[in-house]
Amino acid sequence: MLKSVFSRKQKAPKVFVIGLDCAPPELMFDAWRNELPNFKQLIDNGAYGQLMSSIPAITVPAWSSMTSGKDPGVLGIYGFRNRRDYTYDNRYIATGLSVKEKRVWDILGEAGKECIVVGVPQTYPVRPVNGCLISSFLTPSTTNPKTQWTHPLSLRAEIEELLEPETYDVDVPEFRTNDKKALLQQIYDMTRKRFKVLRYMLDEKPWDFFMFVEMGVDRIHHALWAHHDLSHPKHDPDSPFTNAIKEYYLYLDEEVGTLLKRLPQGTHVITVSDHGVKSMTGGICINEWLRREGYLTLYDDPPTGWLSSFEKVEVDWSKTAAWGDGGYYGRIFLNVEGREPNGIIPAGEYESFRERLAEHIEQIETPDGKLMGNVVFKPQAIYREVNNVAPDLIVYFGNLSWRSVGSFGHDDVYTFENDTGPDDANHAENGIWIYTQLGKDLGGKRLPDKQLMDFAPTVLDLFGLPIPADMQGKVIKHKT
Ligand SMILES: [Zn+2]
Repeated sequence: MLKSVFSRKQKAPKVFVIGLDCAPPELMFDAWRNELPNFKQLIDNGAYGQLMSSIPAITVPAWSSMTSGKDPGVLGIYGFRNRRDYTYDNRYIATGLSVKEKRVWDILGEAGKECIVVGVPQTYPVRPVNGCLISSFLTPSTTNPKTQWTHPLSLRAEIEELLEPETYDVDVPEFRTNDKKALLQQIYDMTRKRFKVLRYMLDEKPWDFFMFVEMGVDRIHHALWAHHDLSHPKHDPDSPFTNAIKEYYLYLDEEVGTLLKRLPQGTHVITVSDHGVKSMTGGICINEWLRREGYLTLYDDPPTGWLSSFEKVEVDWSKTAAWGDGGYYGRIFLNVEGREPNGIIPAGEYESFRERLAEHIEQIETPDGKLMGNVVFKPQAIYREVNNVAPDLIVYFGNLSWRSVGSFGHDDVYTFENDTGPDDANHAENGIWIYTQLGKDLGGKRLPDKQLMDFAPTVLDLFGLPIPADMQGKVIKHKT
């Protein structure tokens, strides 16, 4: 008797997660809120706020930090490219293999919950889940028969049949391109096919937890932000693409609507992004700056008139104290005696040297002589643990308005062309969090800022499951 009352009252919770890589609060909550009817409804009936990204505010490790509830230092993942050891040239790309901590679907699966995971970064190579998984960008191919990009394996044939004659895309082939028209078509095709697969999964597969990430948002921002943002230094009001990002958001909203229709009342819906977006002013050639300031010595002068990657120049390590890596944020490595093969900074002077260099970087100015506003982080100060080989300093140049450029040959410490291909946008520190329970009205309350590690404990809490003591995030309460 008691049991039947209990089961009638307690409907098993369902959690559905809409992941939008790079979706910023400024567009979702403010500028376009009233034009995106489905997202608007989620916001108006839910509770929402800014979601602080990880440091660094980069797709890898941000999604893994979010879904594990652990910071990048604990994960030992400091970006896409990481040092394997303290030699100068042994780097690797952090795939799913680098994630040693359990992610929320691993814990839910152990508790008997069925999970569907689609396109969440760092899920390739595929590991089994209690349910279905389709891997993410950085999957080498979805057409090579030898590449396993689904769990179970048989899911692949179902998707292939569903999309025939097209094939599934985890990403676009190259988003840093001047052929914006072709790229736009690729982004739309990828998203359209993904949502077709998502509808199929919702219609055909059982689930308690369903999470997907759409990468098209990030790709269209990087490719077309200058066309969209009137204040971008490269903005051209006559560009045929001034409305392209907005049109894509309108399209995405429609597609999301087709999923929401399929969800039962009572489903907890979380809409989330891993970081925001901001206009990229230019790049600081970090190794050229280090060279000019006497921290880095090359055997020959850097090239003029052509670019050379850091790996291709001959560094005199006996006269080099620091070098850097390119990317949306800067990584600085110190050449430390007894640590690096030809280290020159005495171990006892490491901290004082690091502090002096951090202060020096904070003093870097823009080409017009204003302070660039660089923010410098020491891994030991921002992470609970520092596992694997972390950069000695992590730098947000111009607080992420400038990117870090590792190559030589720019004839200056500033560049306004991207050495890895055209790219208009950098990442911003805040992404989005929207929580809604279908059928309930929470009144569209704005929450104080949350941190993306709060995601994993909040999901476990919605299922009524205990939160592992080593998770660093906190449960987000929406109904107070
Ligand atoms: Zn991202």
